[in-house]
Amino acid sequence: MAGKKVAGVLGATGSVGQRFILLLADHPHFELKVLGASSRSAGKKYVDAVNWKQTDLLPESATDIVVSECKSEFFKECDIVFSGLDADYAGAIEKEFMEAGIAIVSNAKNYRREQDVPLIVPVVNPEHLDIVAQKLETAKVQGKPRPGFIICISNCSTAGLVAPLKPLIEKFGPIDALTTTTLQAISGAGFSPGVPGIDILDNIIPYIGGEEDKMEWETKKILAPLAEDKTHVKLLTPEEIKVSAQCNRVAVSDGHTECISLRFKNRPAPSVEQVKTCLKEYVCDAYKLGCHSAPKQTIHVLEQPDRPQPRLDRNRDSGYGVSVGRIREDPLLDFKMVVLSHNTIIGAAGSGVLIAEILLARNLI
Ligand code: NAP
Repeated sequence: MAGKKVAGVLGATGSVGQRFILLLADHPHFELKVLGASSRSAGKKYVDAVNWKQTDLLPESATDIVVSECKSEFFKECDIVFSGLDADYAGAIEKEFMEAGIAIVSNAKNYRREQDVPLIVPVVNPEHLDIVAQKLETAKVQGKPRPGFIICISNCSTAGLVAPLKPLIEKFGPIDALTTTTLQAISGAGFSPGVPGIDILDNIIPYIGGEEDKMEWETKKILAPLAEDKTHVKLLTPEEIKVSAQCNRVAVSDGHTECISLRFKNRPAPSVEQVKTCLKEYVCDAYKLGCHSAPKQTIHVLEQPDRPQPRLDRNRDSGYGVSVGRIREDPLLDFKMVVLSHNTIIGAAGSGVLIAEILLARNLI
């Protein structure tokens, strides 16, 4: 184990937490040592505390870890702590960890809109981690102790949305109008209490509280340029990009599907073939950095007319790849397409792990 960074997970028994356990179990650079959950679980062995719902078996390395309460005193040895806490209690807990000097990568929404907190989709905007580098450098120059920090992962459906936008904007210039209609998996609603079977079986729920606002706002932060002093990003304005989201819960276990339409600002717009080639050729920076979990193929362009489908395509590149199909002209905007991303891997825990790998590659943990 020598040389591995010590990792902890908050909310370790939940939907996102269980995914963290799977992704960190045999990780070459991180050793999972500390797990936190509610006082209902604290004091129990993980195997006894968790209601394991993954199709992969519970890794042996996690079974006997005794679950702690979510207090920084139990996580002091951690080089990095991943949080899968619900927003109702993540705010106070993550703040206490940060003030204790701990590096946190969080799935909760609480700090996503803070100016000095990077909001990261690691296959899209890892350069926003410069905000953390700047914070650490400033403390060093001022002779202060190394500060803790929080990095937020985006909302799960935002991650799938922005993944294909990044290469398109890089190649063809700004996108100024964008609509998305989502078909979101049940696991995205968490496990406690989760979506009741009686509500979702034979049904679609055309409402996910707060989700549309998150998608519309977060897109403007993730695609924004860094400010010159690298302390924050310059949020895109509604004049620069209009985003409209409609979110639906569907009877799928994992994998969020989104039907997207978009318009480029520059005329003439690229052709369908140019859009496909651009997406196929995109290599994310995390892969160029040599990060262990980075997808070799960031965007999978599927030509079959009935793909992507969650059951068939969500695990491409181990769930770190995003699938895009049905790319065609749109009579209202320029193009429409169907995007599929794994909500608890690239949309949550996987992004957390990939962010930590980037931090490690950049010597920031
Ligand atoms: P979840 O399945 O409901 O899990 C919640 C976790 O928090 C459990 O480990 C639970 O432990 C723990 N917990 C509950 N009350 C607590 C307390 N008072 N103090 C400390 N820990 C407590 O939720 P989830 O779906 O994994 O979501 C976690 C976070 O990730 C949320 O902020 C969510 O919005 C975000 N997110 C989720 C997804 C997704 O696809 N699911 C994607 C992106 C972001 P016990 O078992 O002990 O109760």
